Amino acid sequence: MGDPRLKETRWDPAFEAALVETWRSEPELYGFRPDPVKPVYVIDTPPPYPSGSWHIGAVMAYSTIDMIARAQRMFGRAVLFPFGLDRNGINIERTVEKKTKKPLHTWDREAFIEACRKEIQAIGQGMLDLAWRTGLSADFDHVYYTDSDEYRAFSQAVFLELWPRGLFYRGERPTFWCAYCETPLAEADIEYEERASKLVWMKFALGSGGHVPIATTRPELLAACRAVIVHPDDDRFAALHGKTARVPLYGHEVPIVAHPMAKPDFGSGAAMICSYGDMVDLQLFRELRLDPVKVIDERGRMTEAAGSLKGLTVEKARQRAIEDLESAGLLERTEPIQHKTPLCSRSATPIEFVSSDAWYMRQLEFRDELRRLAREMEFQPARHRQLLLDWIDSLTIDWPISRRRYYHTEIPLWYCKACGEVLAPPPGKYYRPWKDPAPFDRCPKCGGAEFVGEDRVFDTWMDSSVSNLFVTRYRTDPAFFEANFPTSLRPQGREIVRTWLYYATLKSLVVRGTRPFRNVFIHGLGLDARGRAMHRTHGNVIDPWPLIEKHGADALRFFAASETNPGDDFRISEAKIGGAGKFITKLWNVARFISSFDEPPAGKLLPTDEWILAELNHLIEESRGAYGELNLFLPSNRCREFLWNLFAPHYVEMVKARGYAGDPGARWTLHTCLRGLLRLLAPVIPFSTDRIWRSVYGGSVHAELFPRPLDGIPAARREATDAILAFNSEVWKAKRDRGASLNVEWPGVAVPAALEQYGPDLRRMHRLV
Ligand SMILES: [Zn+2]
Ligand SMILES: [Zn+2]
Repeated sequence: MGDPRLKETRWDPAFEAALVETWRSEPELYGFRPDPVKPVYVIDTPPPYPSGSWHIGAVMAYSTIDMIARAQRMFGRAVLFPFGLDRNGINIERTVEKKTKKPLHTWDREAFIEACRKEIQAIGQGMLDLAWRTGLSADFDHVYYTDSDEYRAFSQAVFLELWPRGLFYRGERPTFWCAYCETPLAEADIEYEERASKLVWMKFALGSGGHVPIATTRPELLAACRAVIVHPDDDRFAALHGKTARVPLYGHEVPIVAHPMAKPDFGSGAAMICSYGDMVDLQLFRELRLDPVKVIDERGRMTEAAGSLKGLTVEKARQRAIEDLESAGLLERTEPIQHKTPLCSRSATPIEFVSSDAWYMRQLEFRDELRRLAREMEFQPARHRQLLLDWIDSLTIDWPISRRRYYHTEIPLWYCKACGEVLAPPPGKYYRPWKDPAPFDRCPKCGGAEFVGEDRVFDTWMDSSVSNLFVTRYRTDPAFFEANFPTSLRPQGREIVRTWLYYATLKSLVVRGTRPFRNVFIHGLGLDARGRAMHRTHGNVIDPWPLIEKHGADALRFFAASETNPGDDFRISEAKIGGAGKFITKLWNVARFISSFDEPPAGKLLPTDEWILAELNHLIEESRGAYGELNLFLPSNRCREFLWNLFAPHYVEMVKARGYAGDPGARWTLHTCLRGLLRLLAPVIPFSTDRIWRSVYGGSVHAELFPRPLDGIPAARREATDAILAFNSEVWKAKRDRGASLNVEWPGVAVPAALEQYGPDLRRMHRLV
């Protein structure tokens, strides 16, 4: 028995910051080193968007990805765990616009891009610091940025490769439009929220005298009303089929059409069809060949066509329309209603349908193949595959990929000034058609020599959707790409299945014809203690820094792994994170005790030693299996149970005396269990396990492989577990019941015959005489 090699009496979360520095100085630990005998494992890490503060749910999600990366390394794989920052997009533009109080379209484009670049650099650094401090073992020496010339050129190159195949087209049609972001949106950019609204009951006068009541939530669209529909089976309106009605306030006559899309139990059963209130309007304008009129412009203001409402915002116009209806005697009543409102997922602004010219990528024609690829990927948890399949089923339009913004990847196209031909340059370079000279001499169609650059940019998902191609080195390292595509793993949140996962699947389909990933890991959302999503607007965002400083990143990580089954949402509670901290303290205390014994090369094992080693073997098998299936819940909980319920209270107590007496069998077994436990826990709690390993065994636990079950240990020893636990509890209870201390001599109790092999250790432990 010597001094413990683990010096400090307590685990202190402050040790973690020092370990971060140690890891930084040992780049061989986490760097990607291809090795001819090691299989490669490539992770398509989600590049986070720098937003000032990373909320705790995100920190936990990235910790989970890190646990997978670490586990794969410990299986002996060469792990490419890249880290990128997704810096393109509207968020940073909005930040600059707000700070300077100058909207994007009033800026000089060059100056605006410069301002965005400065702003985003400052924000990104804080995020990298947090990623380090959380213990992420990513390849931070090669962080990639989606707004770099290199990445943008890559994104453009994939587009330009596909260009000759006719996968992109330009069209003028009504699209989802966000007036706040001033840009068309894809279906994937839209969220639905129940919002309070007013159902407005109006009177539409009939040519034959009298009126038909119509209820709507969009009275500001009256000027654009071109028809009224009623259900063909709705007897109340049977006499009105083919008649006309007069639109209130504007006075034009519109046809009354019997149509099955009318809902007899909404409002009066008769509905007005306007350009455009919702998807039903869109469909019926097409089907009934109605003439649309544009009453809302790209900035969300009413147009000339809205008459006296001209210039008002949609919301003000709605209020004014109600007042006007009332003073004209055409308002029956208004009633409050909860209305499922489509919102822009970035700005939470209600979306409109605005007719605009946009570039589209074909996607509807690929739906069958996309479903096939969805089925070819392994999902963890398996049930989340359905999210992707449902999304594919729900698509109704092609993907609008152009945006009228600046801090994005440019669409690399030019137009011939003379004949309008669209010209695409060869893939490879980073093109900025709004400022670069056209890379053409002559128009191949008309011979014209003057060109205009496309001034629009890509939807940011055009960039994100090629991240897996980028990290597997498509176009830059053909041998690596051929060997490592499909990418081993796509880890991501459930909320971006319809965007990031879907678009990556679409891109990989058209580029390679195959599934993009072998495995898709969908993690749950971190919710607040009451089960609500964390959102700045709810004021319930938890800053991870103070929690990490108080409890340590390991406690946070252990909580993230052990709290919920993979894929489920989890409620974040500081008390439970503190509880995870107690487990780490327990591990530290046990390790410190064991570290005071030397580690003999081997020793003769007694039945008690074989018993705990049989339990260890079982733990190793279960944990390896679970890590292999990307399940972190099981190994973290099994290791905790092993330490807390078996190893520390029973085995350690049973062999303590033998250990003190210098028995090599007990000492060897104590160390073997500690080594096994530390390696099994290393992916989840990389700090404390490494600190212990370095002090007790030297080197880093993160350079170790997972343990394998020991040979020669009879698995049947585990059959004694219940009886050992029961006997120990019984003696402890008897001593406590008599107010005795646990280490007093205890006469008159015999070890049951079934446990006689363990008798010597049990008698020493309880001092049975
Ligand atoms: Zn928006
Ligand atoms: Zn031309």
